[in-house]
Amino acid sequence: MSRGMLLVLSGPSGAGKGTLAGRLLQEDPTFRFSVSCTTRKPRERETNGRHYYFLDDKEFDQSIEKHMFLEYAVVHGHRYGTLRMHVMEQIERGTNVLLDVDPQGARSVMRAEPSCVSVFILPPSYEELAVRLHTRNTDEPTEIQRRLLNARGEIAQMGLYHYVIINDTIDEAFERLKAIVLAEKHRSTRYRPEIPEKNPINDGGCGAESRAN
Ligand code: 5GP
Repeated sequence: MSRGMLLVLSGPSGAGKGTLAGRLLQEDPTFRFSVSCTTRKPRERETNGRHYYFLDDKEFDQSIEKHMFLEYAVVHGHRYGTLRMHVMEQIERGTNVLLDVDPQGARSVMRAEPSCVSVFILPPSYEELAVRLHTRNTDEPTEIQRRLLNARGEIAQMGLYHYVIINDTIDEAFERLKAIVLAEKHRSTRYRPEIPEKNPINDGGCGAESRAN
C-alpha cells in the first residue's frame, strides 16, 4: 500500500486556510485533519480534541520533552504543535492527512517530511486581509495588528511552497485546491494502479482496478 499524502496548508492568519481546510475535509473523505495542540485559550464554540488540544504551558513543555511534536512554533504569542504520532500513523496506513499550520510550522514539516505537499494561501490584498481579521472578530485589536505585521514576512516566503493559491473567492480558491489535490493523488509515487489483461465487461470501459485516493 502506498503512503498517504501529507497536505500542508499554510499562509497568513485570515487568508482563509481554515475555511479551505474545512471544505476539503467535508468533500473529500480520504482526508483526516490533524488536530494540533495549543497553549492559547479556546474561543467560543471551540472544543478540546476537535479544534485543538488545549494545553497549559507545563503540558506543552512535557510534550516537547517527550518528542511528541512533528513541529511546534510560537505563533502570534502562543504555542502550537503538530502531534507526530497522529500524523505518521495515518500516513503509513495510507490515509491522507491535512495540516493547517503557520509558515514556520510548514517549513519544519517540509524539512521533516520532504514528500509532503505544501500549499500557501494568499489573501487577494493586504486591505482584504485586514478586513477579514476584523470581521471574523475572534481577536483583540492588538492581536489583529500583530497578525497583520506578521503577514508581510510570511508572504515574502511563499516561494518555499510547492503551490500558491490566491483566496479571492472561496469557491474559486477551493477549485484550485481540488485541482492540486487531484494532480497530487496521481503522482506515480502514490498511485500505481494495476490494469487487467482484458477489458472487464460492464465496467464502463475504464478497466483500471484501483482509483487514486
Ligand atoms: P488560530 O489561533 O487562529 O487558530 O491559529 C493561529 C495560527 O496558528 C494559524 O496560522 C494556524 O495555521 C496556526 N497553527 C495551528 N495549529 C498549528 C500547529 O500545530 N503548528 C503551527 N506551527 N501552527 C499552527
